[in-house]
Amino acid sequence: MITTLLKLLNDAGDTAVLSGSAARPNFGRVFDRLLKARILVEQASLEEWDLCNGCECGLLARPVRSEGDRFRADCPLDANRDVGLERDDLRVFEIGIAVLMGEIATAAGFDQPPVEIIKGVWCLGETRSGRGIYYGLNLASLDRSSLIAIIRQSNKTGRATIIAQNASPASKQWLQEAGIDHAKADDVVKPAENRLGLVFDHQALDAAMSIPELVVRLEAAQIEWQGRSATFSHQIFPVFQRLLEKAGSRDAIASGPFLEDTSGREAKDLIRELRDQMKTAGFSDTQSKSLIKTARNRGYFLGVDAENIAVIG
Ligand SMILES: [Zn+2]
Repeated sequence: MITTLLKLLNDAGDTAVLSGSAARPNFGRVFDRLLKARILVEQASLEEWDLCNGCECGLLARPVRSEGDRFRADCPLDANRDVGLERDDLRVFEIGIAVLMGEIATAAGFDQPPVEIIKGVWCLGETRSGRGIYYGLNLASLDRSSLIAIIRQSNKTGRATIIAQNASPASKQWLQEAGIDHAKADDVVKPAENRLGLVFDHQALDAAMSIPELVVRLEAAQIEWQGRSATFSHQIFPVFQRLLEKAGSRDAIASGPFLEDTSGREAKDLIRELRDQMKTAGFSDTQSKSLIKTARNRGYFLGVDAENIAVIG
């Protein structure tokens, strides 16, 4: 049922309502709980019904009139097009978006109420590693640049995942370009076994994250790459940091003199020592040379693009 509501929100945005006829198959224990929790809020019953297709009666809508305990919406022009209605058909339920987002955040273990940071995007909370987790009601209708700016502002680490129903290829592309990960709502937000509550699948959320190829831990002078880690000595780590610094600049190549700056030793010796320390940690000679690469006659550079490197303090 929750999934149905999230789909409705995805299709119609925050004006989405659940009609009585769409709700009827779900009436029962689960539906009552949604009403009680105010995830669904019943509105005044409909007093008008849509016109028949292509009707030329000139009305904006057909008035609904009661007939015993049933209801009718008549076409002024054609009695064959009159419709008989039941009381449930006239019921309308609004979706309590804030409450619904609150349920998702609670299921995820976040303890603050979610905040709508921009129309249609709710911040559910932040993971322990500082990643911002957001729910996007309808990605196609978002103000992209505001969203990106707000996420960057509100999230110190700059790492964010947005959960949404059906991201179009175009939406996925701009999210990726903005460095925002995307997780499918159906993978992450699932009904609980008793169907009354919901379950937030953190593993599915993690799986949706783009994993950095190279992780550099500055304080520990450590790198993680290709499933292995190496810790550099504190004498040689500044040389690695210079390579790292260059990786983020336009010309990713660090010249000999640039590297030598950190010590009185020659660049080629410094590089050899970095590679040796990688090998001591179990990396192969080839691996050490493909992470710390030589650009003949120009210098040295990291064999991983800056965007695939995560630097942790
Ligand atoms: Zn009509």
